[in-house]
Amino acid sequence: MKPFEPKLVYFEPNALDYPLGQQLKKRFENTDVEIRYTTSHNQVRNLPGDNDFQKYRVAKSTLVVGIRKTLKFDTSKPSAEYAIPFATGCMGHCHYCYLQTTMGSKPYIRTYVNVDEILTAADEYMAERAPEITRFEASCTSDIVGIDHITHTLKRAIEHFGQSEYGKLRFVTKFHHVDHLLDANHNGKTRFRFSVNADYVIKFFEPGTSRLKDRIAAAGKVARAGYPLGFIVAPIYLHDGWQQGYYEMFERLEAELPIEAKKDLTFEFIQHRFTKPAKRVIEKNYPMTKLELDEEKRRYKWGKYGIGKYVYKKEEEEDIKETLYQYMVKFFPEAKLEYFT
Ligand code: SF4
Repeated sequence: MKPFEPKLVYFEPNALDYPLGQQLKKRFENTDVEIRYTTSHNQVRNLPGDNDFQKYRVAKSTLVVGIRKTLKFDTSKPSAEYAIPFATGCMGHCHYCYLQTTMGSKPYIRTYVNVDEILTAADEYMAERAPEITRFEASCTSDIVGIDHITHTLKRAIEHFGQSEYGKLRFVTKFHHVDHLLDANHNGKTRFRFSVNADYVIKFFEPGTSRLKDRIAAAGKVARAGYPLGFIVAPIYLHDGWQQGYYEMFERLEAELPIEAKKDLTFEFIQHRFTKPAKRVIEKNYPMTKLELDEEKRRYKWGKYGIGKYVYKKEEEEDIKETLYQYMVKFFPEAKLEYFT
């Protein structure tokens, strides 16, 4: 799995007023990639492709360089107080990905070059809550590590929060391209998390992302660089032999991680869920998927804005929670489970 390189790049003309916009323009001018211009990162139209299926795939390998105009951050419970918006969209092709519904007709990847303004807005949020700690989640709308070898925005953010008194940064990734982040001056203020899963889930539902083995090796490097480390097991998905699949995942994590990585470790467990609109989009974008999306087999949970989601039935949910918790305690007795949802 090579680091992502876009096949098509768009620039908002105003993005070139920022140093990062200029840098990115130079970077891509030195490659064969096609460069186009767009008045707004929200208005990229006419992507190549004869039908929606092709256009969706082209979009996932298109990078749009723009300016983040809204500097009001969304909340990001339960893992943090706020979502910090450095990028939107992802090059991965996880069938279950919630971005398919939240991004609708704009599945291309957007990176924002007004990084100083975004960080200043974060400072204001921190000041409002001080002396309480404010946590910022950088992966609510993208897999930020997946493009950071191109932008180094995350690296700047890690160093910014490293210097802050009351701020903490967190993000999660399925990519192993972390080398440029290892020497960042993080001061222990960034929790670097990897998304992990049973082999079956990675094999059938996570194309276009790094293999588990590579994610674990990257987690080892990150831990040796002194970052607090975490794992998100998501989506926890029931399949034939799921207990064995998740047991082996924990066993491999334990066997392959260096000792440093086992200290100060957090886990987050998220069971698979889907909404009706998500089901429609998944079936359109990945028509051959084996992902089980049968409402009859699930429990309906009312959600915000009237859109409920389908989660596992109560007994299954309890079984998942207890089983994974036991595995975590067996292999990582000092780890902390932050939440199960
Ligand atoms: Fe979505 Fe994460 Fe997969 Fe990217 S890596 S497609 S953000 S689930």
